[in-house]
Amino acid sequence: MSRIIGIDLGTTNSCVAVLENGKPVIIPNAEGNRTTPSIVAFTKSGERLVGDLAKRQAVTNAAGTVSSIKREMGTDTRLELGGKRRTPQEISAMILHKLKTDAEAYLGEPVNDAVITVPAYFNDVQRQATKDAGRIAGLNVRRIINEPTAAALAYGLDHGESQKIMVYDLGGGTFDVSIIEIGDGVIEVLSTCGDNHLGGDDFDQRLTNYLVSEFKQQTKYNIAKDPMALQRVREAAEKAKKELSASTTANVNLPFLAQGRSGPLHMDITVTRSVFERLTRDLVERTTMPVQTALNDAGLSVSQLGRVLLVGGSTRMPAVQDHVRSLVGMMPSKGLNPDECVAMGAAIQGGTLEGSLISGNANGMSSAGTGQEILLLDVTPLSLSIETVGGVATRLIERNSTLPVHYSQIFTTAANFQTNVEIHVLQGERPMARDNKTIGKFRLTGIKRAPRGVPQIEVTFDLDTNGILKVSAKDLGTGRAQEIVISSSSNLSEAEIQQAIRDAQEYAAADNQRKEAMEIRNQAETLVIETKEAIRVCGKELNKADQKQVKNDLANLERLVNRNRPEKITADVLPEMKAAMDQLQRSSATLSQLYANHQASGQS
Ligand code: AMP
Repeated sequence: MSRIIGIDLGTTNSCVAVLENGKPVIIPNAEGNRTTPSIVAFTKSGERLVGDLAKRQAVTNAAGTVSSIKREMGTDTRLELGGKRRTPQEISAMILHKLKTDAEAYLGEPVNDAVITVPAYFNDVQRQATKDAGRIAGLNVRRIINEPTAAALAYGLDHGESQKIMVYDLGGGTFDVSIIEIGDGVIEVLSTCGDNHLGGDDFDQRLTNYLVSEFKQQTKYNIAKDPMALQRVREAAEKAKKELSASTTANVNLPFLAQGRSGPLHMDITVTRSVFERLTRDLVERTTMPVQTALNDAGLSVSQLGRVLLVGGSTRMPAVQDHVRSLVGMMPSKGLNPDECVAMGAAIQGGTLEGSLISGNANGMSSAGTGQEILLLDVTPLSLSIETVGGVATRLIERNSTLPVHYSQIFTTAANFQTNVEIHVLQGERPMARDNKTIGKFRLTGIKRAPRGVPQIEVTFDLDTNGILKVSAKDLGTGRAQEIVISSSSNLSEAEIQQAIRDAQEYAAADNQRKEAMEIRNQAETLVIETKEAIRVCGKELNKADQKQVKNDLANLERLVNRNRPEKITADVLPEMKAAMDQLQRSSATLSQLYANHQASGQS
């Protein structure tokens, strides 16, 4: 059986890990980095770039680059990219495909299965969209788990004792806080709360706005209207923000940022940590309410918390750490890299599904929990209801119920002789149906004619461990039942998913063809260089006719190599290039032999 990788599919960065010898190991990407920017781009020549390569060209190809696609998961958004309208699932699949390919290169074997993490606050549609993205990327998604649960797995193995912990996760685009109970091989999420539109990107935006306005004051030039310059400032703002986590000042120096009336304009602004903290104080404070709500929902006071884990790159900011400390009255734990622990936890979960023994813990120390199977108990982040008379949302499953959960309730008809009812499935906390999110609708027909209030209709909600919902309705009078796959639980139809899978496979084939083309071009270039060297060393020993033939064939191959630059090469030139290589190898056989003899006798 192939290995199950653990993937943290993040808003700004993604990370992949695998269990090796019982320990989670981060898999570096093809560029040698431990996290991969969740960025996808299409160049003007139609080449697809993902991760570091996409990030590097974002400045010069802002219109062809997509970042933070995770914010759009589960919506009907379509983005124009590479000449096609694409769903968030397809774009996320491109990121997942790169992580899969990098993992295959690292492991030296095909990878088919994965555990993928999502923010605890993701609703059913967003979870299903993540699963669909995995399928499109050619991955069998064995489990979707909450990010804080994964973090608790990575940390939870250090300690055998039962305790309740808080996971405070401030990443690039989302904030989640969860209260988790760890003990006896069980990790239970007691409550979750958060804001899926709060993260490091917002801090970057505040600093960018500040730099733009300072620059305008200094030069009268408005960068906000200059997309290329703005992108450079945004990147510099993120870099300065990270520097300010370690030092108290950061200099933003961007030469030739824009062209002013009297010549080029350069940005040179020093930002102090206190200015940065003033600009972003309210963002840090926005994390207070979710923390209090999560504690209330779990019925806990801060004094009952054993530990607080910091997760997500944005928790490196000193102001965030100070805020957490003041909220919970204790020093948060920072034993693991906040960017990596979620992927590590996902890999541990993957190992459990594989049946691997887990030894030691993510810190590499031995633990009381060695080899222990972990039972994960996640919760549903939002309540699930159906609409009843008067537009009321009647709850069947309460928020923060432990998964899997199964609940049935009997309903009846509101009108005399009603033969069908509409089951309107809702997600959310508001009392009226119209204020919640519709996640599905279906009709139960063929109800036996009877006065209102007589028919008995049993509605059952089944929420599985991936947080995916199935709803069924049964008329107990006739036994007629209807089970539905809620179409809105995936906002893509099966046909759309299949089409996306085919498109992704075509891209994988195009990527392979481009790779093969590059390899052949490399071989051709090497042959040109070697033949030139052989001619220099012993060309004169050939007869005139052979010399002429070799030089002709060499010139032909060299022309093809030069005409097809590495970044532009396509598979259609390959037959011609291969034929030219064969021809040169044939005509230079004697020359190669002479050259080999020279080399062997040490002459040159
Ligand atoms: P994650 O999604 O967990 O990878 O978090 C990414 C976010 O963390 C991005 O917004 C980064 O800019 C931010 N980040 C990473 N390192 C630091 C740092 N040293 N200081 C402040 N923010 C950081």
